[in-house]
Amino acid sequence: MSLRFRVLGSGSGGNATLVEGGSSRVLLDAGLGPRQLAERLESAGVDPASLDAVFVSHEHGDHARGARAFSAKWGVPLAGTRGTFRAAGLAEAKVPALVEMAPGETRTIRRLTVRAVGVPHDAASPLAFVVSVGEESLGHATDLGHLSRGLVDAFRGCSALLVESNYDPALLRDGPYPWSLKERILGPLGHLSNGDVARLLEKGLGDACRRVVLAHLSRKNNHPELALQAAEEALLRAGRRAVEVALAAPEGTDWIPVRAPRAAAGRRDGQLRLF
Ligand SMILES: [Zn+2]
Ligand SMILES: [Zn+2]
Repeated sequence: MSLRFRVLGSGSGGNATLVEGGSSRVLLDAGLGPRQLAERLESAGVDPASLDAVFVSHEHGDHARGARAFSAKWGVPLAGTRGTFRAAGLAEAKVPALVEMAPGETRTIRRLTVRAVGVPHDAASPLAFVVSVGEESLGHATDLGHLSRGLVDAFRGCSALLVESNYDPALLRDGPYPWSLKERILGPLGHLSNGDVARLLEKGLGDACRRVVLAHLSRKNNHPELALQAAEEALLRAGRRAVEVALAAPEGTDWIPVRAPRAAAGRRDGQLRLF
């Protein structure tokens, strides 16, 4: 029973990740328009109506923009916090079903479970998610201002992580954004920098993790090579050479299995030298 995921969109243009496992399929966020979401699902070989639920992390447009129309058109329930539903105008929306969940709660769809983890971000009640089937689990966090203890703990048992690596502080400081927006992004309820992610990978990564996908990169305040370099250097410092790092492009990724190839697992912590 394996778990795999596919990023359908990443960054300020719109975020959505398809996760499949245990004969269930869920979408994490619906920040693309409903037509574009359906097209990207179909190009992944997935019928939009076959989704079991859309979990909405928070109300910002790049995460929730398509939720209402997609849910109504394809008959797919929405799941999220009460705060998100209210702030996104979904509480009274005509959609097939709204499944409320508080931070810390878990919802089960057949063999797939989705756990909601509260994160620090300037939204009503924002969430990260841990999606699991059996022993495999994906930790999924976009839009958070700092690494809270609760999130690091929730991610410790995950086999793969998708985490935002939003900005490089120097590029942000010297970039075109107004100061108020720079302060918001840099603040404790803004976004994670490349350095924040590096700290997570060096100090907070659980032993089970074999794969990291860097997502939600800012086009103006980051560069893919800077994000990748910061993450790879952190993993090297931590002696975690077998952890594979990839970037989610704005238009998404191919399918990514949560379980890394066996060859990579053998390389872990330089163990190859012993064989
Ligand atoms: Zn966002
Ligand atoms: Zn946000």
